[in-house]
Amino acid sequence: MKPITDLIHHPYQPPGDFASPQVPVHKASSVFFNSVAQMRSRQWLDKSGYTYGLHGTPTTFILEERLCQLEGAKHCLLLPSGLAALAQVNMAFLSSGDEVLLPDNAYGPLKTLAEGELLQWGIRHAYYDPMNPADLAQSITPATKLVWLEVPGSVTLEFPDLIELLQVCNQHQVLTALDNTWGAGLAFQPFDLQAGLGVDISVHALTKYPSGGGDVLMGSVTTCRDDLAHTLKMSHMRLGFGVAGNDVELVLRSLPSMALRYVTQDRTCRAVASWCLNQAAFAQVLHPAVVGSPGHANWRRLCAGDAPSKTAVHEGGAAASLLSLRFQPSIGAAQVDAFCNALKLFKLAYSWAGPISLVVPYDLRGMRQQAPPELLKGGFVRLAMGLEDPQDLIADLTQALDQTLSQG
Ligand SMILES: *Cc1c(COP(=O)(O)O)cnc(C)c1O
Repeated sequence: MKPITDLIHHPYQPPGDFASPQVPVHKASSVFFNSVAQMRSRQWLDKSGYTYGLHGTPTTFILEERLCQLEGAKHCLLLPSGLAALAQVNMAFLSSGDEVLLPDNAYGPLKTLAEGELLQWGIRHAYYDPMNPADLAQSITPATKLVWLEVPGSVTLEFPDLIELLQVCNQHQVLTALDNTWGAGLAFQPFDLQAGLGVDISVHALTKYPSGGGDVLMGSVTTCRDDLAHTLKMSHMRLGFGVAGNDVELVLRSLPSMALRYVTQDRTCRAVASWCLNQAAFAQVLHPAVVGSPGHANWRRLCAGDAPSKTAVHEGGAAASLLSLRFQPSIGAAQVDAFCNALKLFKLAYSWAGPISLVVPYDLRGMRQQAPPELLKGGFVRLAMGLEDPQDLIADLTQALDQTLSQG
């Protein structure tokens, strides 16, 4: 054999028995078979073997199993982003002539997908008011094949009565899919039938808490139902969605610290929310644990065991790291932009649940069809807490607010 061939086919094997805290990173497109017989018989669908990189590696199987554990599911698929995971569910279960229902405050790109490709493929959509289960009931038609749920709503953070919404879907026997990115498997268990939940499918943007670094894009789809898992896997295989081994490694490395990060950012977020409640510049502080924030009672029931709230910011339960602020209508749009520009620790950027606090200004008028009119009055920003010290974040908000108001 020539040296080049020898280099590639060198027989040395390291000893197999190696154990350490982190999972090995297996990367492959090609996977070797020992024989033609094995090539013909090996299965990836039930995870009993490996056939091709797209169909799983030891590293991806391990992450899938851990995510099942996190969310209380039985089956899991990985996708290259949270948005791809949302798209995968739509593509696996909807066909031409079907209708899908989305909450009016759904994650924006999911709406864009419904208004773009889904419509192009003959799949219609309608928006329902997630704060009104009767509106969902009225929106379901014989063509409705899938109902999306989100807890709380994107950007405006209204907390719906998830149990009630699921009851409506069950009565009509419609498939349900929850965007569980906010709860992350830590705030509540989406498949917990005893708690009155039991969604059919959960989608998780692993980009957020499971990664936690602001440096990885990934998504997952989980379910407890074998039939749905099979449909999802076959669609996933046909569409060719894969994830990179090194990215999976990063998520696996971050998972053990996820609950700690969640709790820390949650605590910071409530401290910042408390401070914001005392600032005259803000007409509304939207955060599920803030007494008076839309759906606060629903949040308490689902995430905090319904303990009575006496203080302005309820202390129990889990409430993630997002907080939205509506400015007084007397504060102009240019001043709200100036406030965002003046922030130093809060960076102007999309996404959340990373180490650095983020801010995004939103114009809700183009985003919502059924929002209460007062929500659309005044500038609107969403804050995402990082892992900085809460007092430093409050000092940053204070200086930005002072600058903005002095210029008004
Ligand atoms: C970020 C996010 C997504 C999409 O995740 P990407 O990985 O950024 O595509 C979906 N849903 C919610 C609620 C999100 O916050």
